[in-house]
Amino acid sequence: TTIGTLFEQTVTKFPDKEAIVYVQKNLRFTYAEWNDRVNKTANAFLDAGVKKGDRVSTFLFNTEELATAYFACAKIGAVFNPINFRLAADELLFIVEDASPKIVLFEKALASQINEVRKDIPEISYWYVDSDTPEYAENFHEKVHEAGSDRPDSNVQEEDLYAIMYTSGTTGRPKGVMHSHREMVEQSLILIASTKLTEDDRGLVTAPMFHCAELHCAFLPRVHVGALNIITHHFEPKRTLELIEEEKVSLFFSAPTMWNMMLQESLDDYDLTTLRLGLYGAAPMAPALVNAIQEHFGCELVQAYGMTEMGPAVTFLNEKDQVRKAGSAGKACLNHEIRIVRPREAGRPSEPDDIMNPGETGELIVKGPCMMQGYFNREEATRNAIYKGWYYSGDAASFDDEGYLWIADRVDDMIISGGENIYPREIEDVLYEHPGILDVAVLGEPDEKWGESVMAVIVRKNDSLSEQDLDRFCQESTKLADYKRPRRYLFVDELPRNASGKIQKFMLKNELVKSNG
Ligand code: ATP
Ligand code: MG
Repeated sequence: TTIGTLFEQTVTKFPDKEAIVYVQKNLRFTYAEWNDRVNKTANAFLDAGVKKGDRVSTFLFNTEELATAYFACAKIGAVFNPINFRLAADELLFIVEDASPKIVLFEKALASQINEVRKDIPEISYWYVDSDTPEYAENFHEKVHEAGSDRPDSNVQEEDLYAIMYTSGTTGRPKGVMHSHREMVEQSLILIASTKLTEDDRGLVTAPMFHCAELHCAFLPRVHVGALNIITHHFEPKRTLELIEEEKVSLFFSAPTMWNMMLQESLDDYDLTTLRLGLYGAAPMAPALVNAIQEHFGCELVQAYGMTEMGPAVTFLNEKDQVRKAGSAGKACLNHEIRIVRPREAGRPSEPDDIMNPGETGELIVKGPCMMQGYFNREEATRNAIYKGWYYSGDAASFDDEGYLWIADRVDDMIISGGENIYPREIEDVLYEHPGILDVAVLGEPDEKWGESVMAVIVRKNDSLSEQDLDRFCQESTKLADYKRPRRYLFVDELPRNASGKIQKFMLKNELVKSNG
């Protein structure tokens, strides 16, 4: 099975069943109608000279065009490359240069970034999905309109490349993760089983489709079983709640911050009784938030932990463990094996059988059927990530004595002070409890006596908060051993965050080195 044949199987089984709703344009397609659109789009790509293995990029919000281009690429063996719509022009340029696509699809709201990029890369075709096409671009819908609707000729195999998905760029430049068709069919099956998906489900697309969490854990498995996808251009908490009621939504995925935003609305005004399951992931969710969701949404919850390289799902925390194991990432998903091994030294992976005991923190490594082929154009990074058949996650984690996984932090962010391993997230969690703190990042800095010492970079709510206040707060905390207490505080206006909202500590470290001369 490929992603293209999986789609066609659903079309054959459920031709007259509603497949997608695109809210902003008030479009509703059955699977047969959508298939027609997908075929025309695939033929438009072929007419433009796209061949098997060529990349087609999208710089789009959540749109019908993105969803259609996705299956059109799959049918003809073009490599789908969805790009983060929050990226600034420079970041976009880096990815377009790296992925070197034949075509980039884009929309009105993102045209200014594309306008910058096309000056540096004029040889690519830029296809515009709205009206009033800029003079350097071509109109996507005109191309599709002119193309034939026959099933396109193709010779796509399971092991062929299906997509290049870029990582979030939290620890460095984003890396292009290469996945095959087979890997994604496997991923989809795992999600179908673990979310008990059926053709009667009505799924709402809330999170960005360029990210694997939405695309692979929510959107794709729903197409796989013949369920409905309701697509909204971008996330708005109020509109999401209205849509749950209007469209009788049964499940959706959201990141913890999105759940939090919905909880700020007056939830009693909406009928949410059709909702059976909420998926969350990409970050741990505070137990208080889990409780609030269960109370106000009345649905089951499942947490997914993972990363772009693994498809992404690696572990699930199931409904029955939401309260009892709150804060844990749960257990390995079907067909996956996970281990905690000794943390890498000098950047070199430790041996996969150098296993840590329960309660000890090390690096999480994973084996599973959805593991990436490697990073596009990055042989060395690939060699550092995949060793003896295991993917080295770069996440520090431990197992408890019941075998549940607990994520501590990123391995590379670990501080070694006086021979003790310190994970910044633990200290950040304590500091976040201080009412005068808006944002915080904890880092290690070179120290002659201890090797490294702990420092905290703080964004404060107002200038009255002092280093002494914070030091007293940490000394009084019952959660922090003395060697973990920051020895220095630095106040800044803002922390560098990537488009996914994660703090980029490598940028912070570079800035500190520069400012120290
Ligand atoms: P880059 O690899 O470019 O530095 P990134 O690792 O942030 O960026 P993603 O693949 O989007 O890119 O994110 C995967 C990471 O997100 C994981 O390695 C982990 O650190 C974090 N993560 C994902 N899900 C969870 C979760 N449920 N709980 C805690 N952390 C999570
Ligand atoms: Mg990563």
